[in-house]
Amino acid sequence: MNAQQSKTAGSTQPDHLYKGRRASLPLNIVVIGCGLGGLAAAYCLAQAGHNITILEAASAIGEVGAGIQSSPNVSRLLMRWGLGPQLQEIGVKIQALSLKRWSNDEVIGWTPLGDLIDKEYGFPFYLLHRADFHRVLYEAAEPHCNIRVNSRVVSVDPSKPSVTLASGEIVYADLLIGADGVKSVTREHVVGGPDKPRATGDAAYRALIPAEKLLQDDDLRPLVEKMESNIWMGPAGHIVGYTIRAKKEFNLVMMHPDDTEGGIESWTAEGNVDKMIETYKGWNTTVQKLLALVPSTLNWRLMDRDPLPSWIHKDGKLALLGDSCHPMLPYRAQGSAMAIEDAAVLGNLFSHCSDRSQIAPLLCAYQSIRYHRATATQRSSSLNRFIFHKPDGPEQEERDREMRAAKEDALRVARGEKSTYALTGNSNQWADKTKSDIQFGYDADEEVEKWWLVNGKRLTALVPSIELKPRVMSSANRDH
Ligand SMILES: Cc1cc2nc3c(=O)[nH]c(=O)nc-3n(C[C@H](O)[C@H](O)[C@H](O)COP(=O)(O)OP(=O)(O)OC[C@H]3O[C@@H](n4cnc5c(N)ncnc54)[C@H](O)[C@@H]3O)c2cc1C
Repeated sequence: MNAQQSKTAGSTQPDHLYKGRRASLPLNIVVIGCGLGGLAAAYCLAQAGHNITILEAASAIGEVGAGIQSSPNVSRLLMRWGLGPQLQEIGVKIQALSLKRWSNDEVIGWTPLGDLIDKEYGFPFYLLHRADFHRVLYEAAEPHCNIRVNSRVVSVDPSKPSVTLASGEIVYADLLIGADGVKSVTREHVVGGPDKPRATGDAAYRALIPAEKLLQDDDLRPLVEKMESNIWMGPAGHIVGYTIRAKKEFNLVMMHPDDTEGGIESWTAEGNVDKMIETYKGWNTTVQKLLALVPSTLNWRLMDRDPLPSWIHKDGKLALLGDSCHPMLPYRAQGSAMAIEDAAVLGNLFSHCSDRSQIAPLLCAYQSIRYHRATATQRSSSLNRFIFHKPDGPEQEERDREMRAAKEDALRVARGEKSTYALTGNSNQWADKTKSDIQFGYDADEEVEKWWLVNGKRLTALVPSIELKPRVMSSANRDH
């Protein structure tokens, strides 16, 4: 099959996207993986004027996952794509972040979000169920592309380029986008061999509790009503809890030392509720009460991967996106955000495409715009692990002192007084305005427009001074 047989971009495109610009050369693009990143990429590349086929291994597009977050950097894009009403319908607008002590439930750190986030960044911060989020993106992308389920990619020929499915069918395209998640097959082709992840030593139990159960308990009711994201920090683990689905479900992610012999990295591996309760023995009564309500749990082994030297195959017709190239540990809730930003940048850049020879340079542009940000986000996510999991002692006391000072400052500001405390580098990374501005103020489309102003002419004229080969990143230029 040739990907040319896919649907072409429909007529219901938001005209304002990419300033109304559409590629004068429509490419046949195959996106491997129909997760949040793959769907966002398909949507954006279709809006840019290309013909898109998504190949998904699963036999159906289903109801998988639990809580996930749409921070303002993502809401900004989704709303630009016309998905604001859907987001509002499926999301719970997070009001604040509360960092609490494991032993006694004391609020140590507190950062207001809610309307303050809208005011600072112009777009809301939502808590969502992944299945709802996926459905919204699916409904946005599906009219503009061909989505094929039961289509597991087993091998890739990056030079043609083409992919071979488990059925033996070969699918050809002008460009391949690997959006096939943490256990990506396409990444191996970019890296040039198997790429083994490292165990972090942590795993995460995940569970959903009907919110009505919390509402029946005076101690638990505020957890639903306040619409905060709660993080209980403890020695060697932490628990994140917040409401989703119009406050109908309470989402729990519980990090703990990974004690599963030969455990697997999987979003769907079963966990053991009794073992889960045993893990948090001695934690405060709110946590104990919450855990007693958990009907069943999944246990997700957390693996780490170093930033890849390049996201693009050397032949320049295969690029990676989302978890396939920069999987995030779930300590800063930016995994789907980075995948969706990648997609927006790809779409915007490829709206300029007027010649096949531009594919490789456009991919290089994609990497140079995205690499530093995604890598820095990967690193700041990992940093939270060390901040949250400190054993009780001098380092934990120093962390708590910093977080309390930031909380007092936030309360002062909420009362209309002046901020008097320097928040840069605070252990509560959400309180650090500089970090929040970088994370939440980012506009993927604006980044492309800025890049294009400086480099666009050279790229379209293919002047030799522009890098035509994927750039191998050195450790020196990986961070902001
Ligand atoms: C089942 C599942 C449940 C998840 N639950 C949560 C959650 O509750 N909370 C949270 O924060 N994050 C969750 N995530 C992760 C989160 O969605 C991602 O970290 C983030 O959205 C980045 O998305 P991605 O598109 O890069 O990768 P993913 O969302 O992992 O999507 C990758 C897609 O590629 C498909 N795929 C993989 N290999 C192949 C292949 N060889 N051929 C064809 N298709 C292939 C997969 O089936 C999947 O649909 C989940 C991911 C999955 C797959």
